[in-house]
Amino acid sequence: MIDVVLKKGKEKAVLHKHPWVFSGAIENVKGKPVNGEIIRLLGNKKDFLAYGFYNDQSRVAVRLLEWNEEVMVDEAWFRTKVREAVAGRAHILEDGTTDTCRLIFSESDYLPGLIVDKYADHLAVQVLTSGMQNAMPVIIDELNTLLKPQSIFDKSDATSRSHEGLETTNVLLSGNHPPELVMVKENGISYGINIAEGQKSGFYCDQRYNRQALANYAKGKTMLDCFSYTGGFTLNALKNGAASVTSVDSSALALETLEENIRLNKFDGAEHAAIKSDVNVQLRKFKEDGAKFDIIVLDPPKYAPSRSALDRASRAYKDLNRLGMQLLNSGGLLATFSCSGAMDMETFKQVLAWAALDAGKQVQFIYQFHQPEDHPVRASFPEGEYLKGLLCRVW
Ligand code: SAH
Repeated sequence: MIDVVLKKGKEKAVLHKHPWVFSGAIENVKGKPVNGEIIRLLGNKKDFLAYGFYNDQSRVAVRLLEWNEEVMVDEAWFRTKVREAVAGRAHILEDGTTDTCRLIFSESDYLPGLIVDKYADHLAVQVLTSGMQNAMPVIIDELNTLLKPQSIFDKSDATSRSHEGLETTNVLLSGNHPPELVMVKENGISYGINIAEGQKSGFYCDQRYNRQALANYAKGKTMLDCFSYTGGFTLNALKNGAASVTSVDSSALALETLEENIRLNKFDGAEHAAIKSDVNVQLRKFKEDGAKFDIIVLDPPKYAPSRSALDRASRAYKDLNRLGMQLLNSGGLLATFSCSGAMDMETFKQVLAWAALDAGKQVQFIYQFHQPEDHPVRASFPEGEYLKGLLCRVW
């Protein structure tokens, strides 16, 4: 096995079990590992620190897997990690009202670069590191043994893969090609999931409990669901007796699926409108028209892809939330989210305080939203925490 030696003074994060080693922390590589190869990471005094995947194309040159020198990172190691992650999700699926969740969440489940989402009897995977790419035959075999899915589809995200010098993929890895719409249930609501054409791996299962928590307030209310995608917040609110819901998204495919989902759940009779538009444009239009709502959801895509983008992103979040606040009836609710890992909850609260000032409103934070337990945050890897939200009462 090839040794990779750290520069002096760069051991601390590794000793604290952080799974990333940046290329700038490496003093030398004793040999020529191919990308994805498992190497031994040594401290500057040549002491063993950990085993990890090597990749010289990535800023994160080593992704650490195992800190115990006696434990080999072999097939059995990967199988154990997969089994443990899957077992940890059992209770989410137990009562039968939900059959979709994230089974494996990359570094947070000790498998850097591997994401596996379950959609009823189908699995969608994203493979984002070359090391994990090499391990895929074993991973696929273990997933098949454990879960016997009808299909395993690779839905790897292009940008992340390019950082590791990997090609984009969108291919069937095992089983039969999933149908165009895979039927799943979440919180007792049915959804059609388009794994191959949909965003991410097809569905945003990280909002499962937040959709339900918000729906508790929706009975008899008028709601505006911005960045609705296929209708997670919309459908939970309709189920709980919302008086009307308007869903806005820029994706025609997302809205088509949303309308199909409304039919699937027999909510056809409900007051619902789907508007294909840029949310920023549509909110201004609502303002001109004098429209008002009791509840507004703002669940935008990631505005801050990195810490350096945080200032710009904060301004974008502030503007969006200001517009939202101005469209609420007095005492109405704003459910606002940020899935930017670079923005922490404290910063997000600050952004909302600024938005309230600009909007000429007063805001009370009445509930905090988080990512659910199938997107765990590993104590040694705070970067895994990304989704946060606030339920605000706006006066
Ligand atoms: N709330 C959704 C997930 C939102 S994901 C759910 O519960 O499933 C973000 C969504 O924002 C995507 O559907 C994307 O199509 C949409 N989107 C991105 N930029 C947009 C914009 N400027 N205007 C409207 N929709 C946008």
